[in-house]
Amino acid sequence: MKRILAGLIVLALLVGGGLYAVRGKLAVKLVERRVAEGMTSDLASRLPDGLHVLICGAGGPFPDADRGAPCTAVIAGKRLFIVDTGEGAGRTLGRLGVGGDSVVLLTHFHSDHIDGLGNIALMRWGGSNLTTPLSLYGAPGVERIAAGFNEAYAFDSSYRTAHHGAEVMPPSGAGITPRPIVIAAGADSVVVLEEDGVKITAFRVDHGPVEPALGYRFDYKGRSVVISGDTSVSPVVAAQSRGVDLLVHEALSPELVKVLQDGAIRAGRPKRAKIMADIPNYHTSPLEAARIAQSSGAKALLLTHIVPPLPLRALEGPFLGKARDAYDGPLWIARDGDLLSMPAGGSQIDRRRLR
Ligand SMILES: [Zn+2]
Ligand SMILES: [Zn+2]
Repeated sequence: MKRILAGLIVLALLVGGGLYAVRGKLAVKLVERRVAEGMTSDLASRLPDGLHVLICGAGGPFPDADRGAPCTAVIAGKRLFIVDTGEGAGRTLGRLGVGGDSVVLLTHFHSDHIDGLGNIALMRWGGSNLTTPLSLYGAPGVERIAAGFNEAYAFDSSYRTAHHGAEVMPPSGAGITPRPIVIAAGADSVVVLEEDGVKITAFRVDHGPVEPALGYRFDYKGRSVVISGDTSVSPVVAAQSRGVDLLVHEALSPELVKVLQDGAIRAGRPKRAKIMADIPNYHTSPLEAARIAQSSGAKALLLTHIVPPLPLRALEGPFLGKARDAYDGPLWIARDGDLLSMPAGGSQIDRRRLR
């Protein structure tokens, strides 16, 4: 009996080991195919002509397993723009097959919106043959942000060139060039860039004490998107969103943040409770964002910069509160990998999720 049992165990190990080897070979084959796809085409080249929004970070400053730090990519025709570069943004974009040349626009300089900037610049440099630095648009002060990252990455840049050679990693392509955006006194907005059929308008929002803080509007071939940036309820966002195809608005649930505040008080952590009490006053609730979308005639609303994190899908209802009642159009809560496509010449928004 014992001999039969031992034989069965050996047989099981042999079969199991064989399966293990086959699974491993299949996995390598899959990787080969993914690598070949990734090397020959990036996402922008596979999309139809139009305006596309890809969420590369739908969260805020809190740790969140489903949503990275703030990042919204806009693909207009063949151009790639990245609005905010939260931690992990470059890796998320790389995983989603987005690469090549890009321009970065910062809404403001809160740490969670810039702490992935170094990696974005490095991946652009290493993933292309570009010999000019990354262009970084932002409010005045963006010069200090660029200088700080350039200094922090100076050693790394020199190692890369020394290791791979100046042909592959030309020193002139490393780093960041700041492009300050100045909105004239008395004005609310300024056109930042108008190239290749793409028009980008920066506008003031209200995120005090962060001053100035910006939102952006992109127009391309009759399609449009507004990205609010971090803001409390702002009439400028509503004005810029008039008739826009898609409003990407930040959202914070005061009710759910209050749950965190109460928890901090109960745990005897007054500093954390104070922070939780402070943050709602410079953000917008889902209900307020829905009212802005309704009053401005925005055709669709995507909530992002989701605060607090929603670890359970069932929290989406409490997060939204009565927002759906306040807005007639489609309303979505963003997750990393959400791709919203607005084809040129059309009026629809196609929504899917990349993984
Ligand atoms: Zn933020
Ligand atoms: Zn902020």
